Amino acid sequence: MTTGYRKNTLHMEDVALEEIAASFGTPVYCYSAGKIEQNFNAYRQALSAVMSSDDFTICYACKANSNLAVLRLLQKQGAGADIVSGGELYRALKAGISPKKIVYSGVGKSTAELEEAIKRGLFQINVESEPELEMISRIAVRLRKKVAVAFRVNPNVDARTHAKITTGKKENKFGVDIRYAPALYARAKQLPGVVAAGVAVHIGSQLTALGPFRNAYKRVADLVRLLRRQGHDITRVDLGGGIGITYKDEIPPDLHLYALMVRDIISPLGVHVIIEPGRSIVGNAGLLLSRVVQVKKGRDKKFLILDAAMNDLLRPSLYGAYHAVVPCEKAPAKTIYDVVGPVCETGDTFLVNEKLPELKAGDLVAIMTSGAYGAVMASNYNTRPLAGEVLVKGRKFARVRDAQTVADIVSKDKIPGWVA
Ligand SMILES: *Cc1c(COP(=O)(O)O)cnc(C)c1O
Repeated sequence: MTTGYRKNTLHMEDVALEEIAASFGTPVYCYSAGKIEQNFNAYRQALSAVMSSDDFTICYACKANSNLAVLRLLQKQGAGADIVSGGELYRALKAGISPKKIVYSGVGKSTAELEEAIKRGLFQINVESEPELEMISRIAVRLRKKVAVAFRVNPNVDARTHAKITTGKKENKFGVDIRYAPALYARAKQLPGVVAAGVAVHIGSQLTALGPFRNAYKRVADLVRLLRRQGHDITRVDLGGGIGITYKDEIPPDLHLYALMVRDIISPLGVHVIIEPGRSIVGNAGLLLSRVVQVKKGRDKKFLILDAAMNDLLRPSLYGAYHAVVPCEKAPAKTIYDVVGPVCETGDTFLVNEKLPELKAGDLVAIMTSGAYGAVMASNYNTRPLAGEVLVKGRKFARVRDAQTVADIVSKDKIPGWVA
């Protein structure tokens, strides 16, 4: 199920990565189906140990990796979906995920997106502002529907994660200030198209300690009790994203301890629990397979130039994120490289001063832990085609997205007559 060396050759499950490169070319994303299932089931088992399986729904956060095959794989495991756009709604439904298991999050849903979501009868829409609440009610009334909503509250806790992925502090754009929640639930009660059935929170991603979750969940539990005293029938709590993962030396929280915390803080409320893990389901199940294009000697440095770049995997340049690069043929590490992509940006750097085996043009490397927020963030910068994606299961592997061609990219461009 894991990715590792067998006889010095890097394998994902039972497939040598060089076989995938030979079949489909590089750069190419590879995902282990077994690992994705294992990660999902770890959540299910941890929560099942502390509550009945009817009392929680795991809504996989599609934005981490929304490939249809990945969504279908998770749907078959019983996952619902957390979506943040009309595009993700389309994907989730196409993958066969029931609307009754879909939660719609996001800070700026358009009228068209909300209309589609309301028509489909999603499980819940998470509301980010009073104007959005009013908009949802108006659309629902027009469509003769009643929509279950939860306000996403901002509990003003520090998630102690990267500044660009922290979302639960008062200066972040997300959620409504938890102090305004009573007024907003009172407002919701006056509106004919909505039923405020839940409270939602999501304080950020890649959390490697339980403390921030605990602080946020306690505030949410206090809010639920307050709202109930004010006469609101709160039946659901949405606890947001999952735990962090190991990219380098991070030690993620234990899922069983996480579940015990949920039991202690949330279960006494007698609500249905929703969690929306993304990164921890797919992150360590994926890698970006790439070939060395060139080894270039600078004045003081050796650059390992790959055929993968920041347009394929943005996290290093966007967040300064660490992704280990490992050779597909095992050898002792002895050379210090900067590992870079071919894009015309100094920020197109995967690693600085990293000790690796001596590598040469044509050698294969894997950029590890790239299953989450990898392919989904890719762009066509430098007119580089989006990489293909491959799903591995045991000895089987299949392309689950074809690589783009340059013609695909350019086909949407048009030259107006007055220029031609
Ligand atoms: C991004 C996001 C998630 C997923 O977070 P992970 O850290 O990937 O588990 C869940 N819920 C919401 C609202 C999000 O924006």
